[in-house]
Amino acid sequence: YTESAALLERAKKVLAGGVSSEFRKYNHPHAIFYTHGKGSRIYDVDGNEYLDFTLSQGPLLLGHSHPDVLQAINTYSEQGQLFAGQHIREIELAEKLAELIPSAELMRFCLDGSEAVQTAFRIARAKTGKAKFLRFEGHYHGWLDNVAWGLSTPSAEALGERENPEAYPWSAGLADHARDEFIILPWNDLELVRKTVAEHQHELAAIITEPVMCNNGCILPKDGFLQGLRAICDEYGIALIFDEVITGFRVSLGGAQQRFGITPDLSIFAKAIASGYPISAIVGKREWMGLIEDAKVIHAGTMNASNPTVAAALATIQVLERDQPYERLYRYGQKLMAGLQQAAAETGQNLRVQGLGPMFHAGFTDLETVTDYRGTLSYDKAKLGKFIAGMHDRGVRVIGRGLWYISAAHTEADIDHAIATARQVLESMVSETTKN
Ligand code: PMP
Repeated sequence: YTESAALLERAKKVLAGGVSSEFRKYNHPHAIFYTHGKGSRIYDVDGNEYLDFTLSQGPLLLGHSHPDVLQAINTYSEQGQLFAGQHIREIELAEKLAELIPSAELMRFCLDGSEAVQTAFRIARAKTGKAKFLRFEGHYHGWLDNVAWGLSTPSAEALGERENPEAYPWSAGLADHARDEFIILPWNDLELVRKTVAEHQHELAAIITEPVMCNNGCILPKDGFLQGLRAICDEYGIALIFDEVITGFRVSLGGAQQRFGITPDLSIFAKAIASGYPISAIVGKREWMGLIEDAKVIHAGTMNASNPTVAAALATIQVLERDQPYERLYRYGQKLMAGLQQAAAETGQNLRVQGLGPMFHAGFTDLETVTDYRGTLSYDKAKLGKFIAGMHDRGVRVIGRGLWYISAAHTEADIDHAIATARQVLESMVSETTKN
């Protein structure tokens, strides 16, 4: 990795932190810089090829450099950057989302997931006249001030120690009021949500949740949990917000809300919507989104819905509709999950694999199943770091926190290769432990 190492030194002089947070956070031994990606592969500056399950942190559902997406961007770019004006393709994209996403009656486009989340909060506050939100431990809703507070805690014991800055890393520099904007509960505990909303009904504007908890582990909602949230929000007249930044387009064309059959009031789509080009959508029912229409809630942004990003979204969705990769995304994902689990069992490693298929998590813990954020704190980060580094050195890229994303470009041979590689890495970890 000589070229990458030299680039890291160069980067450190001008880029704060030098490299992406991925490497800093997980103590990854390598800082890698890439040149390009194609299909299921990505290439680094030292000429190494990797089978990629990071997909640029999720957006590349079609794989790297899908020709239809590239062509659409080129074609529309040549027509000029129609910023901050009206262009027909923005309407076409909105019509398409209205057709595909069960709760999408009206929508607006933003640049990324974080901005769209803040827009949802603003609408919920404006409609309910209340200021606070209920969110869940371990869920990530972007990095902007209020949601960034309390993003992670080093231990289960520290949860709830609101006055202790040590307990909440990454909180430096946030506005003081940020931590008072939220009530944060463990996920998947409906009774606790019901009790808390009843107690705080006069100050709560919304409940926000990832429909599948993907940012710490990959944890499915318990049966009836999302339905229960829907009923509670209906009872108290507060907004149910689904953060579909990861699940959107990945678990089905209509997102997790389609897969689970729950209709939220507002939801956020980003990442896969445009194969990684900067566009996100806040979508919802007319009674909520209409506040923007009535000019009560401000929503702006010079770069929103620029012609090339809308083109990228339209092309991505067109390919998904045409090729219908979902059966494969699930089948390959589940095959990979089973293969990893089997390799773990055969090598006697406590690797636990859980998720849906199109995305899943594999981490080391002695728990049989991880059902909430407190469970994720049992994951052995050092061991995961070794595993991820071992995969990387054998040419397979996985996100540092153990999340795997499947793309439509992955082939069955890719899946078999990843399983065989994981087996080698697990075996090498066993022999290393024996040597020690
Ligand atoms: N919500 C979820 C569930 C996410 O995973 C992310 C990004 N990882 C965000 C919101 C923020 O989106 P963005 O990075 O596009 O601002």
